[in-house]
Amino acid sequence: LIVVLDACRADKLSCYGFNRATTPYIDQLADDANSVVFGRHYAQSTWTKPSTASLFTGLLPYQHGINRKYRQVQGGRFETQILAAEIKTLAEELQELGYSTFAVARNLHLSAVNGFAQGFSAYHDPETIRGDRGALRIFTETLRQARGKVFGYLHVMACHNPFPPRRRSSEYLTAYGFDYDEAARKKVGIDFTGSGLRQAIRGRRITFDEADVRFLHLVYEAMLHQVDARIVRVLLEGIRSSGRYDNALIILTADHGEELYDHGGYAHMHALWEEVIRVPLIVKFPANRKPRVLPRDVTEITSSVDLYPSILALLDSAVSRNLPGRDIFHSHHAPAVLSEGASEMRNHEWALIRANEKLIETSQGPLLFGLLHDPTESTNLASKDPAGVRRMRALAEKLRKRHPPWRKRAPVVEIDLPSSAIERMKKLGY
Ligand SMILES: [Zn+2]
Repeated sequence: LIVVLDACRADKLSCYGFNRATTPYIDQLADDANSVVFGRHYAQSTWTKPSTASLFTGLLPYQHGINRKYRQVQGGRFETQILAAEIKTLAEELQELGYSTFAVARNLHLSAVNGFAQGFSAYHDPETIRGDRGALRIFTETLRQARGKVFGYLHVMACHNPFPPRRRSSEYLTAYGFDYDEAARKKVGIDFTGSGLRQAIRGRRITFDEADVRFLHLVYEAMLHQVDARIVRVLLEGIRSSGRYDNALIILTADHGEELYDHGGYAHMHALWEEVIRVPLIVKFPANRKPRVLPRDVTEITSSVDLYPSILALLDSAVSRNLPGRDIFHSHHAPAVLSEGASEMRNHEWALIRANEKLIETSQGPLLFGLLHDPTESTNLASKDPAGVRRMRALAEKLRKRHPPWRKRAPVVEIDLPSSAIERMKKLGY
């Protein structure tokens, strides 16, 4: 079972060292005797569509070619990039191994028209699902009725912005809230409940003061706390009551994180900072199947493309293709991780992380950070260490040569989006 919490950044989870009790139920999963926490896990991109495509195919974004938003042709007609049919997905592999496969995907980028349903015998499209709790109901009910070997994929909107009051945990706000006049700030354009905030920040129409930043972090944490209590708790109960918990491989992760003004930005897509690409990865193995070589906490870097080969290796099924990921359930060798920004936002283009070194290539030049001493990426070492930049660039080049694109670009089709979908996209800031 793969569970993706949209826009969930790793550093806010209590089991990832956050100093407040944001995620007691995720922590329970992490504390299971058969669980492993991958402490430095990265998403392959800064937004849902390319990142999930990488998770599904085991390919890097430039390999599967998906990295563009819906493009309006005219009226309700849009051009969309789709996951190429000839690329084999994890669901297709598992189907061939005799698994019945189903997915419940709430994010509009993951519509079946975009090719994400490949390999799923049942695919519950974003348009047909009512809220995260609706998604959860379908998921647990399908699981309860399933017979034999099952692969289930659940993608909930979880921590995705905006942050309306009904999605914030009141329990969390009571415990950690502080005096802040949200209504007054809304009047000057600082509105955490709407979708215009990112554009307003990028257009320099507003700037945050210290209290705004503190409050933004608070509401994000309150959302996460609510997701933990209302989604993760119920999900784990549902898996238990289906009788499958003990024997299940449960993978909990995210497609990307979220910028909360840590570097002066908001939301996700346009930057490759740690808060955007470092996501949780908690793996609960079936009883007695946890590989002995794995410590409880893995400190080496891993990334989403590693899941495809790792899951197949656990099932003793070899991957015939040359994939960029590796079996992280059995190997300790930690190479470099590549993550890509959105192609329409020519700002942060790609990032390479190796051990504690991180290079972000931007349209204004390289950013080089030493994550061990500078985990918040505050000091750019690029001009001080040009050799380091050259070394990281050469390594990225080598990786790209070793793993060429599957095709030049992802196939594109024209579709009609219902007005409800267009409205929802706008609300989500797309
Ligand atoms: Zn997402």
